[in-house]
Amino acid sequence: MARSPSRAPQRLTAVRRYLEALQVNAILVTFLPHVRWLTGFSGSNACCIIRKSSAALITDGRYRTQAKEEVHGFKIFIAATSIFEELKVRRLISRSARVGYNPSVLRVGELENLKLLFPTVRFVKVRNFIDDLVSIKDETEIRKIRKAVSISDAVFRSVLPLIKPGASELDIAAEIVYQHRRRGAEADAFEPIVASGLRGALPHARATVKRIARGELVTLDFGCRYEGYHSDMTRTVAVGKPASRLRRIYDAVHKAQQRAVDAARPGMKGSDLDSVARKSIASAGFARFFPHSLGHGLGLQVHESPRLSALSTDVLQEGQVVTLEPGIYVPGVGGVRIEDDVVIRHWGAEVLTTAPKDLMIL
Ligand code: ZN
Ligand code: ZN
Repeated sequence: MARSPSRAPQRLTAVRRYLEALQVNAILVTFLPHVRWLTGFSGSNACCIIRKSSAALITDGRYRTQAKEEVHGFKIFIAATSIFEELKVRRLISRSARVGYNPSVLRVGELENLKLLFPTVRFVKVRNFIDDLVSIKDETEIRKIRKAVSISDAVFRSVLPLIKPGASELDIAAEIVYQHRRRGAEADAFEPIVASGLRGALPHARATVKRIARGELVTLDFGCRYEGYHSDMTRTVAVGKPASRLRRIYDAVHKAQQRAVDAARPGMKGSDLDSVARKSIASAGFARFFPHSLGHGLGLQVHESPRLSALSTDVLQEGQVVTLEPGIYVPGVGGVRIEDDVVIRHWGAEVLTTAPKDLMIL
């Protein structure tokens, strides 16, 4: 796997800037996607401790070689027992320190363990500022997301011939998983959603043994991971000519999604962008049937900052990558969702997903 130049130094500097503002001597990072963003380390057990003058990554013996290859700019310690005990053994936290941690990811048991190991240290909750830093992607990260998106786009095209009467939702889901791997994806972003007919009214339907029938809409929501970064796309297609009310639902979602793409720009509040799509759906008469938020940030995690919901106070910034995915779900009738991945540029939204959005009748 080709390695791109490490961004660790800039990211470390960005995190260090918070030491003073948060009035802490050290920041403990335990959330693995954040550890990866900061250090490049992609293993399953690690933490980082960041101080003004030093930065360390602690992992275990399974990752001795991998850590050396992936991590630059951090001292690497291999834990003899647990990674937290290693912090103590190596004196990486001084006795009177104030250590900032992210309360939304550190488990209660882990915090208790830390307090037992370091009885004189003050562990203080700090706001989740790393989420904000992580949300803004550099071009190296955008390239990886673009690649993940292009793999999923190709997968979508390759499964279209299989979407026909008699095929089961699971047949399609299995092919999506298989085609992702064949095209270079490391993993699925999540279990593919394949929802046909009335099941399309369930926003988070999993694939089942249900067979697809003529006249139904089929919603496919899937994505993959490439060098740690994710894609996440949804398309809804028709198998044979759909009933006119399904067509109306499709057109309403398509219009709302396009309006959101056209409106997205830096400086806009997440809730304002959400309301662009929500108002569009309401004006088509489906206000009650759009029960989820417009979209979410995308990167090392499938769902990250910023949030694009009715209540979001997040402000869109250049370099963020988000999904735009309005949907309408009418119980007893069916559902439609359309989802693109976009980069927020100074001029608006650059759409990465290339699969067509005009209704495809298979
Ligand atoms: Zn999705
Ligand atoms: Zn999504």
